[in-house]
Amino acid sequence: MTDQNLNKLCQNQLKLAGKLGNIDKTFLTFLSEPKNEIIVNFPVVLDDGKLHMFKGYRIQHNNLAGPYKGGLRFDEICHLDECKALAFWMTIKCSLQKLPLGGAKGGIKFNPRNFSKNELKKISKEYSRALFRFIGSDIDIPAPDVGSNSQIMDWMTAAYQSVRKTHNNDMYTGKSVGYGGSQGRGEATGRGMMICTREWFKNRGIECKGKKFVIQGFGKVGSHAANFLCKLGMICVGIGDHTGYLYNEKGFDINMIINYVKEIGHIKGFSDGIKLTKEKFFSLDVYTIILAALELQICGDFAKNLKCELIIEGANGPIDIEADKILSEKNISVIPDVLANSGGVIVSYYEWLQNRRQEYWDLYEVRNKLDKHMTKTFKKVFKLNQSNEDIDLRMSSYIIALENLYNFYQVRKSCI
Ligand code: NAD
Repeated sequence: MTDQNLNKLCQNQLKLAGKLGNIDKTFLTFLSEPKNEIIVNFPVVLDDGKLHMFKGYRIQHNNLAGPYKGGLRFDEICHLDECKALAFWMTIKCSLQKLPLGGAKGGIKFNPRNFSKNELKKISKEYSRALFRFIGSDIDIPAPDVGSNSQIMDWMTAAYQSVRKTHNNDMYTGKSVGYGGSQGRGEATGRGMMICTREWFKNRGIECKGKKFVIQGFGKVGSHAANFLCKLGMICVGIGDHTGYLYNEKGFDINMIINYVKEIGHIKGFSDGIKLTKEKFFSLDVYTIILAALELQICGDFAKNLKCELIIEGANGPIDIEADKILSEKNISVIPDVLANSGGVIVSYYEWLQNRRQEYWDLYEVRNKLDKHMTKTFKKVFKLNQSNEDIDLRMSSYIIALENLYNFYQVRKSCI
């Protein structure tokens, strides 16, 4: 499957969930396209004094339950079809977690690694200015995603505040704590993945301590997920990122590699572990595989070589339709993206609430709330999955999300 049909992947998931969950067909048609597709081209003068045009996207999929919500991706392959799929998944994710938020996604088509800090600041602020009419605490609330971070959210918030002449800081989340960001937002997606993993093992009556895992993607999501899984007693024997794949049979010292990546920016050159190809990495005999990089990483026949029991989708859409079928035939359980990585948007929601009230919570409170929220949803998803063998964890998550959203749809329809 290519990037061109990432949107086809989510349309397929929607159709299948609609069929299995007996969801109203008109409602499914309504969800099949986003409400708004916004593209902006904006100029930035780079460090060499030359003007460069950048292309930015913002897809607003659905706002039945509340303002649009979703990340901003800085990546050279960022494109409309990708943003449409990611925005759709945000709608499903927020609805599954019963957040009063809709779904959106956006980004800028460029590679942030090729630009200076000064250029990144200008690009981020110009994007925020170009889109300010479509963004706002009650309209659409962006957050970090691949290639962006809390510093970028601070810059974008500052640009928005100066255009709108406001002190409010609730139109972007994932900001640094000093700019009104929430405690625990940085770790939230990885922490949510750990909670899902812990609950999966608990519900299956299996001990997770001592189980080996490999992880692809060691950025904001992957590094925290790996750290928390090690705290559960699991052993990280493989790590991969855009610079390659490393294996250590005995398990990596997770703090050492986290510090290395913080300093260098990638895993290449780390002194521990042997180098592997991507194919070898994914055919290792481990209990769990964590996908925390990009979409469409496990496609078609590739799935046939996997030897694990459990896959956790930290990334959005990392498994294509064919591979999903093969995994199901092989009895490999998948904790789907819309559930596994939803800790990030839950704590973004907490940040939004704290900003609106200008009342801040400590890390303990945020972690506690997140744990209760994720565990409750996981149990619901697991229960539906256990009640019907045709409904895997992905379809179970979708059916619950679609039913939640359908209630809003009906109420709105009745008010027209
Ligand atoms: P990031 O930019 O911080 O890290 C991305 C990681 O993926 C890096 O380690 C990078 O080296 C690796 N990577 C990139 N291209 C790769 C390739 N071709 N092969 C192997 N590895 C590659 O991004 P992130 O925020 O950690 O996001 C990772 C995934 O999680 C994305 O799919 C994103 O949409 C999803 N996600 C992120 C959040 C969040 O809060 N940041 C929330 C939910 C879901």
